Amino acid sequence: MNHSTPEQPADVVARLRATFRTGRTKPVAWRMTQLRRLREMLTDHGADLAAALQADLGKSVTEAYRTEIDFTVREIDHTLEHLADWLRPEPAPVPAHLGADATAWTQYDPLGVVLVIAPWNYPAQLLLAPVVGALAAGNAVVAKPSEMAPATSAALARLLPAHLDTDAVAVVEGGIPETTALLAERFDHIFYTGNGTVGRIVMRAAAEHLTPVTLELGGKSPAFVDRDTDLDVVADRLARGKFLNAGQTCVAPDYVLTDPATAAALEPALARAVEALFGTDPAASGEYGRIVNERHFDRLSGLVDSGRVVVGGVGDRTAKYLAPTVLADVDPDAPVMREEIFGPILPIVSVLGLDEAIAFINDRDKPLALYVFSESDGTRRRIAEETSSGGLGYGLPLAHLTVSDLPFGGVGESGMGNYHGRYSIETFSHRKAVLDKPLG
Ligand code: NAD
Repeated sequence: MNHSTPEQPADVVARLRATFRTGRTKPVAWRMTQLRRLREMLTDHGADLAAALQADLGKSVTEAYRTEIDFTVREIDHTLEHLADWLRPEPAPVPAHLGADATAWTQYDPLGVVLVIAPWNYPAQLLLAPVVGALAAGNAVVAKPSEMAPATSAALARLLPAHLDTDAVAVVEGGIPETTALLAERFDHIFYTGNGTVGRIVMRAAAEHLTPVTLELGGKSPAFVDRDTDLDVVADRLARGKFLNAGQTCVAPDYVLTDPATAAALEPALARAVEALFGTDPAASGEYGRIVNERHFDRLSGLVDSGRVVVGGVGDRTAKYLAPTVLADVDPDAPVMREEIFGPILPIVSVLGLDEAIAFINDRDKPLALYVFSESDGTRRRIAEETSSGGLGYGLPLAHLTVSDLPFGGVGESGMGNYHGRYSIETFSHRKAVLDKPLG
């Protein structure tokens, strides 16, 4: 549609709802066509998106493809391959009192019009991966990219309508006023990724219409390093997970928990790992990202003196560059331990052993991810059984969310609900119970 003035949120939702009512989004063929066109958009215009991600976050082309563009393509391919299977009605056993001729099953019904609100840190992936799920489940979608990644937001607002069915998919750009106006409308599901403060605003607005929500939030994700592990391997994997996207990753290891002797050996290993990844001057490395804006740069700079600097600690506000930083001897009450860091600072906090580590984790909000570096089956099992987190990664940060057959989401303060692969179908559908008792 061509509008001289931007379409009002109420009109966007009404228009999409009218499309949904016609039944157009329900056939599996329509869903798959939309997914294929989205895939085409990503392959044909990957370079445009990569340029936007570079402008917004200093992401290298490699990183843009790996963590956003190709990531979403894989999610689409996985969905296209399995969708028919996932949507198959599931028979349920019928109790004897209903008679031998009665049958029962569950079937997935699309919900209607879904709102997806995305954050700025993976501004393409975190908008598009939920959109893949919403479309695969047969819904109409309003997609709201983050205004804090303006180049990516503009690119998506241009590309999505050029590829998808514009009567069923709309992009609404903007910040708080536009999102507030959208949230006043009635949706059939709201999928929000971002911080817990706004998560509460979203949930309150949703309550007015009894709209179900998925909240993909963040928090401090700990990494426990056991003694007697290969610290060069641990340091390499920690550094890769932490400093990807300059630490602005919801599932990045937020801090390290380990005993004092292991901490002492881990410090130089981390310094070596940072140098191996980004050279002696990470500012000159094409592979190292930038902080999203000055406000976050200032916030992060204020956290650097929370401990002894092992590596990094320097930055350049004009370039929004903050070096990959490791802090040792960090007090559990230091400022860096009081909020989600969401930047390239890795504090090491000492605990005396596994019991203390588990207590430390359980004394705090349930994390989005928990990482464990240990060769001990007993340690691995105890952490799995005695802590709660959105996801659990043994030996490798971040990677669990690339497994399409695993649900991705938080618990407690780190969120509610989950998605990816078939779990997106669960999230964006109603599982309808059907009983059939023949009249004859
Ligand atoms: P952000 O500032 O981009 O906000 C997210 C969205 O909320 C944006 O689209 C924004 O327009 C909207 N918004 C902001 N204020 C609003 C308001 N008052 N009312 C309505 N909408 C509003 O991103 P952010 O929140 O800074 O993102 C960082 C947080 O997101 C971190 O806590 C991080 O851990 C979390 N996160 C979680 C995941 C996940 O998958 N679980 C992924 C990425 C980020």
